[in-house]
Amino acid sequence: MRKLGVFGGTFDPIHYGHLRIAEEARERFGLDHILFVPNKVSPFKIGDTSTPATLRVELVQEAIAGNPHFSVWTGELEREGTSYTVETLRALAQEFPDSALYFLTGTDAVRDIGKWREPEACLTLAQFVAFYRPGVSEAEARIGVPDELEPQIIFAAMNGLDISSTEIRQRVQASRSIRYLVPESVVALIEKKRLYQ
Ligand code: ATP
Ligand code: MG
Repeated sequence: MRKLGVFGGTFDPIHYGHLRIAEEARERFGLDHILFVPNKVSPFKIGDTSTPATLRVELVQEAIAGNPHFSVWTGELEREGTSYTVETLRALAQEFPDSALYFLTGTDAVRDIGKWREPEACLTLAQFVAFYRPGVSEAEARIGVPDELEPQIIFAAMNGLDISSTEIRQRVQASRSIRYLVPESVVALIEKKRLYQ
């Protein structure tokens, strides 16, 4: 069966922390392909996301250009209202009935899975893989996850990259360098579109 990675995020902007997770997942779980799924409005970030979805998609496209294993899936942007992972996974299961889905997250995101819409269904629709992110240890993430859900999640160690989109936005705002935190093409697009100023 084809193995399809699904990587949801705000990607405002995409950075090397995201790209390394996708690459680690591809290699370690033998994924055939990974879909980056930009959220329209994360239910946890309502009111905070100012960068239009179309630009966030362009940033992802720039970052993954030339990698035949990575592409962008914009299904969440076409739906009304906020984005729920369970709906995305249902849509992807329909669109790719011959693929096993792997949903990629960082430890900070998976820690809150108990607050998501229909977490049990999410875990049935996809194998969740939580990669270590500096700031939230695997143990802390496990404590946050409801006991009955925890055994269904694979926790994957990795050399954490302590990079966040928040930090990148703040650096741009403060006219500081973001080089080597994001791909060069992403730096260029951020400059061209005067994002985060
Ligand atoms: P923001 O600071 O705006 O919240 P972010 O850097 O956390 O941005 P998101 O788009 O919120 O990026 O994250 C999408 C997914 O990527 C989440 O599952 C998150 O845990 C994971 N992730 C983001 N950055 C890293 C990182 N440096 N290491 C591991 N996982 C990461
Ligand atoms: Mg985040």
